[in-house]
Amino acid sequence: MFLEVNELTVDFHTEDGVVHAVDRLSFQVERGSTLGIVGESGSGKSVTNLAVLGLHNPETAKISGSITFDGQELIGASRSTMEKLRGDRIAMIFQDPLTSLSPFHTIGAQIAEVYRKHKGVSRSSARDRAIEMLDRVGIPQPKLRVDDYPHQFSGGMRQRAMIAMALVCDPGLLIADEPTTALDVTVQAQILDLLSELQEQSGTAIVLITHDLGVVASTAHNVLVMYAGRAVERGTMREVLREPRHPYTWGLLGSMPSLRRPVDLPLAPVRGTPPSLINLPSGCPFHPRCDYVRLLGEQVCAGERPELSPEHGHGDACYLTLKQKAELRDRPVEET
Ligand code: SF4
Ligand code: MG
Repeated sequence: MFLEVNELTVDFHTEDGVVHAVDRLSFQVERGSTLGIVGESGSGKSVTNLAVLGLHNPETAKISGSITFDGQELIGASRSTMEKLRGDRIAMIFQDPLTSLSPFHTIGAQIAEVYRKHKGVSRSSARDRAIEMLDRVGIPQPKLRVDDYPHQFSGGMRQRAMIAMALVCDPGLLIADEPTTALDVTVQAQILDLLSELQEQSGTAIVLITHDLGVVASTAHNVLVMYAGRAVERGTMREVLREPRHPYTWGLLGSMPSLRRPVDLPLAPVRGTPPSLINLPSGCPFHPRCDYVRLLGEQVCAGERPELSPEHGHGDACYLTLKQKAELRDRPVEET
């Protein structure tokens, strides 16, 4: 497997106590495929991927488990190993290009710089490569725009430039953290199409982090739904969208008008708020917000922690039976 995360646990030691940001998380990403990691903020999505990138501060973050990338263990890898990998074989794009692009350098210089750093080529061939990349991500007149500064680009074009910079070294893995959240819906769709198109050409594996299942629906092959630092559902995109099993996933899908709800029903965001990661609820971490605890009883849902099962394929972490899940998921939630 190209990227394999096993029993990843990330704790942060803070003045208020230990923050259990990620708890025994496992997932895999194949070459050329996209895994969507979905959850609310604070669910551990970004923390997980910063761990893959080796970007946590070892003074505050305690990380255990295993992350192998193309056969190489990344947990405990040296700083220089990670610096060599980052930007070259593992690339990333974030929500807001303005925080990742320097306002003082031209777009072209910033893309060329990444290429030079990792490939050691001459300035002029790095510049040619920057122009080629701008062209590939659909920036019109790339030979002219290569000398523009970030503020001369629109939000959508800046995100394209970020993608150009991320892909300049032809990475095997791209981590995209909320890459379209700051963009309007039309531009969002264009950026997601672009990512899929580039993936088809290059075979890059993508981990797409988002709070929006709609983004995953249009782009990802596989989906991992995270809640309170744990995986609560995993499967192919089809499985999770068509036969979602975990009540939290139903909640997320309930807030997607196009897929599951009749258009005249009001949107229903998942009620309540995510739990404190310092004081996690006992048992199923979703139980304080779950509408189905009454079916199983508090002693079950707040007792032992449900594990993700089955071990492979479409799985979820909830004690309801498959039959109950099948019956319940198509019914709108009653007010309780
Ligand atoms: Fe809800 Fe209980 Fe299932 Fe957790 S285990 S999702 S609380 S029904
Ligand atoms: Mg985040």
